[in-house]
Amino acid sequence: MLDYTNKTAQSVWTNCLLFIKDNIQEQAFKTWFEPIKAIELTESALYIQVPSKFFYEWLEEHYVKILKVALIKELGSGAKLLYKIQMENTIGNKQPYTEQLPSAQRAPVRTQELDVPIQNKNPELKNPFIIPGIRNVKIESQLNANYSFDNFLEGDSNRLARSAGLAVANKPGGTSFNPLMLFGGVGLGKTHLAHAIGVEIKEIHPEKTVLYISAEVFTQQYVDSVRKQTRNDFIYFYQLIDVLIVDDIQFLSGKAGTQDVFFHIFNYLHQNGKQVILTSDKAPVDMQDIEQRLLSRFKWGLSAEIQHPDFETRTSILKGILYRDGVEMPNDIVEYVAKNVKTNVRELEGAIISLIAQSSFNKREVTIELAKQVVEKFVKNVKKEVSIDYIQKVVSDYFSLDIETLRSKTRKRHIVQARQLAMFFAKKYTKASLANIGSQIGDRDHATVLHACKTIDNLLETDKQFKKYHDDINKKFNM
Ligand code: ADP
Ligand code: MG
Repeated sequence: MLDYTNKTAQSVWTNCLLFIKDNIQEQAFKTWFEPIKAIELTESALYIQVPSKFFYEWLEEHYVKILKVALIKELGSGAKLLYKIQMENTIGNKQPYTEQLPSAQRAPVRTQELDVPIQNKNPELKNPFIIPGIRNVKIESQLNANYSFDNFLEGDSNRLARSAGLAVANKPGGTSFNPLMLFGGVGLGKTHLAHAIGVEIKEIHPEKTVLYISAEVFTQQYVDSVRKQTRNDFIYFYQLIDVLIVDDIQFLSGKAGTQDVFFHIFNYLHQNGKQVILTSDKAPVDMQDIEQRLLSRFKWGLSAEIQHPDFETRTSILKGILYRDGVEMPNDIVEYVAKNVKTNVRELEGAIISLIAQSSFNKREVTIELAKQVVEKFVKNVKKEVSIDYIQKVVSDYFSLDIETLRSKTRKRHIVQARQLAMFFAKKYTKASLANIGSQIGDRDHATVLHACKTIDNLLETDKQFKKYHDDINKKFNM
C-alpha cells in the first residue's frame, strides 16, 4: 500500500505533468495539459477538470496511455483518473456545470466518425456544422466526389498544381508542400482540384479526417461561435482535422478576427504534421488586407498557379465532357469551340453543354453553323473584364462629370465621393492592387484607395440616397 497522506491532488498532478511533459511535444502539452486543473484526490482516484467534453475525448483518444503510466507511477496500479467537465455557459444553462466521466470506459473515438460522436454525445459542444434544430446530422468531409483527378485534365496550365496535388494526396502532411496553395483566376479549376485532392486522400487513407470548407462558411461559423461563446469548441473542432482544405482564402481579406483564429488553427495543424490545402484567386504576394504573419505562413509550403488553359488543354477538356456525357461530336466543331471560348474552363463547359442541349432539344445536327450561333451568344454573354478606365467612365457619366474632373485634386464633396466610388468599384471588379488603382485614378496612393473603400462601405450602410447611386452604377457592370 502506498501512503497517500502526504499527497494532494495538486502534487500528484504536478508530478504527472512533469513526466508527461518529457514525453510529448511541447505544443501538444501546452494545448492539452496546461488547461487541466487537478481538483480532488481520493485513495486511488485523481479528479481532473477539463474545459469541454471534446477535450476529454481528445485526451482519451490520444493520451490515455501516457496518462495511465504517469498516474500508476504516482498512485500505484489501482490508480483511476476521473474527469470533471466544465461546460461553457450557454443560453438556458446559466450555471457552469460539471459532469463526471470515468477514464477509458468508452471505446475510443474513431477519427472518421468524430463528427457523429461530437453531435450525439455532446449536445453542448458547438460543432460548427450542426444546424440548430436538426438532429443527427452526419457531418462528412463535405467533398464533392464528382471532382476527381480522373476528370481533371492535365495541361501545361495546371501541371505543377496537379502533380503537387497528387503528391500531397499520397502523403498528406508528409511533403514539403504544406500548405499547398493553389491560386489562379476564376473558373480555372481551383475548387475542382482541391476537392480532387481530398477525394484521393479519402481513397488512399480512409482513416484520415478530411474537411473541405470555403473560407466564407468558415468565417460564418467563426462569427457564430463568437456570438454563442463557443470559440474554444470551434477551435478544438478544427484542430481535429488531418487534412484541412480551405477554398477561396482571399475571402478572409480584412477580416482580422477570422484571420487570427485561422492563424492559430493553421499553426496547430502544421505543427502536428497535418496537411493544409488552400486556394485563392490571387498569389499570396498580391493578397490585400491579409495579416503579414498569415501570408508568411502561406509561403511555407508551395504556391502553385493554375493558369489559363491553352488550346490543346481546352480541346481535351471538351472531349472529356463529351465522353462523360456520352455525346459524339465532330472534331472540327470541338476545335471551333476550343478556339473561340478562351476565358476559362467554366465558360468552356457552359458553351459545350449549351451546344449539346441545343442540338438534342431541337433535334438539330451539330454543324459548324450551330456551333457559331451558340458560341457567339455565349461569348457575348460572357462578362467582359472591366477595366479601371471603363469604371471611371461609367462613374463620371453617371454623375455627369468628365473624367478629368473625377481624377482632379478637387475636394468638392460630390466629386470626392464619385472618385471614391470609382476606387471602390475598381477594387471590386479588377484585380489591380490598391497602389495601381490609386495611380490610375488621379495619382493617389494606396492608403487613399483603402480609405475610399472604407468610406464607401460606411456610406452604403448609412446613406440611402448614396446607396441608390451605388446600386445604379453597379448594375452597369453586371449587364
Ligand atoms: P475555380 O474554383 O478556379 O473558380 P472550378 O474548380 O470551379 O474553378 O472550375 C470551373 C469548372 O471547370 C468546373 O466545373 C471544373 O470541373 C471545370 N474544370 C476546371 N479545370 C478543369 C480541368 N483541368 N479538367 C476538367 N475540368 C476542369
Ligand atoms: Mg472555386
